[in-house]
Amino acid sequence: APKDSENMSVNIHVDSPNVKYTDTHIVAQYSYQTTSVHRDGNKVKLSPQTTDMTFRTERHVPRLGVMLAGWGGNNGTTVTAAVLANKLGLTWKTKTGVKKANYYGSFLQSSTVCLGSGIEGEVNVPFRDLLPMVHPNDIVFDGWDISSMDLGSAMERAQVLDWSLQEQLRPYMSRMKPRPSIYMSEFIAANQESRADNVLAGTMAEQVEQIRADIRDFRQSSGVGKVIVLWTANTERFCDIIPGVNDTAKNLLAAIQSGKEVSPSTLFAVASILEGCAYINGSPQNTFVPGAIELAVEKGVFIGGDDFKSGQTKIKSVLVDFLVSAGIKPTAIVSYNHLGNNDGKNLSAPQQFRSKEISKSNVVDDMVQSNSILYQPGEKPDHCVVIKYVPYVGDSKRAMDEYTSEIMMGGTNTIALHNTCEDSLLASPIILDLVILTELCQRVTVRPQGEEDFQSFHSVLALLSFLCKAPLVPPGTPVINAFFRQRASIENIMRACLGLPPQNHMLLEHKLQ
Ligand code: NAD
Repeated sequence: APKDSENMSVNIHVDSPNVKYTDTHIVAQYSYQTTSVHRDGNKVKLSPQTTDMTFRTERHVPRLGVMLAGWGGNNGTTVTAAVLANKLGLTWKTKTGVKKANYYGSFLQSSTVCLGSGIEGEVNVPFRDLLPMVHPNDIVFDGWDISSMDLGSAMERAQVLDWSLQEQLRPYMSRMKPRPSIYMSEFIAANQESRADNVLAGTMAEQVEQIRADIRDFRQSSGVGKVIVLWTANTERFCDIIPGVNDTAKNLLAAIQSGKEVSPSTLFAVASILEGCAYINGSPQNTFVPGAIELAVEKGVFIGGDDFKSGQTKIKSVLVDFLVSAGIKPTAIVSYNHLGNNDGKNLSAPQQFRSKEISKSNVVDDMVQSNSILYQPGEKPDHCVVIKYVPYVGDSKRAMDEYTSEIMMGGTNTIALHNTCEDSLLASPIILDLVILTELCQRVTVRPQGEEDFQSFHSVLALLSFLCKAPLVPPGTPVINAFFRQRASIENIMRACLGLPPQNHMLLEHKLQ
């Protein structure tokens, strides 16, 4: 068990007639307060509403297995190595001193939430201790890659971790080997072909069957209670949405049988959903074609994505929120990236770049649309994204942004940012948050008052939006990109599971006489 204060867990107990702890569940009565709004021209009518609900959270935390598509890549090797280093409590020397394994960058492991104040003052606890959840040290990894390299050599190829740490991890990492994967050269850049020496043969349907068999094999041989599959393989080009091919679940399954155009990432999604395993897409392409979404809904399996929100976009979802909510009008946002890892090499091909460009482009929409004082209907800031491949900088992606805004009385404000990202070290903790949050959501059910059954969250797990550049949400529901709204949503839903009111930051107790 972890000993040091960084890893010490806090035991939270809610003392309330509305919250019951049974051997198996935390059961909380909760009043969900919303406001129904009716707008008629300049008149806005509001009616506050309260819905009583019961939240039920299973207390037993299963042993979690995570299968990564793209396991031998920079993210795949880094997240596996980081978990191992934390588990073993490794330290290593660098020229700036001794470093120690940690989970910085994971909001669940390394950020806190304020529970309120007592005589000791404000009490902040690690996010991970709000509800029973998987600890990353206990995750078991497995996965696939089109490159056969073992994880020890692949970690070296990635050039992410310090060498003296790699030396300590090597004996463990080398024992892990990615399973052969589905490779279709037309979906990722042609420059990836030389890596593809570990690929499945057979028809599309046979390959999906093999992925399903791999999931079952991993579940059995590792003894994990639950498996989640996550795509951190290369960015694919977008797929056309074709009626009769991928528009419904039935058509998609038939298309796989007859070998029509279905991307590898969608084939993994289908395999995973059919095995009852949640599937998360960490890349920008449209893996979740309508047929894949319908299949997940039919099978009651969680899906989430798209594209890890790790660096430039994360800042954008904070900065534009700040500007627009301060009443300042961003008019031009220009983002340059250059990176030298294999992801950058793949993105140097136009179709794969296009996927990334689309995913990076929509992140300011919700903030812009929310403010009709600054923006006319349909008006948007100019928004341009450029990505260039510069091998020398490796995984240390440089992201440079210029935000130009209109301020008072025709003035102009320009903010320029330079961000050295160390991409895989930013993405790895996000991978952990994604799977741990998804696993937690699988144990939460809600029963609105008057209804008989407890229900799960929608199969399209919008709560993961916080960790994704282009959040996938249930059809017809709002996409939220603003960083603090996304975070508050997670925090407040977890508080609801404990029968606690949402965090409202009013601090009235300090503001009255
Ligand atoms: P990488 O190129 O180092 O790793 C990708 C791995 O996927 C490679 O090992 C490759 O051989 C493998 N691969 C390709 N096609 C495959 C297939 N069909 N099946 C199985 N394996 C396959 O890239 P990375 O830096 O680890 O990034 C992975 C993905 O995550 C990229 O799509 C990237 O755009 C996305 N992403 C990364 C970040 C970040 O900050 N690192 C942020 C957002 C999104």
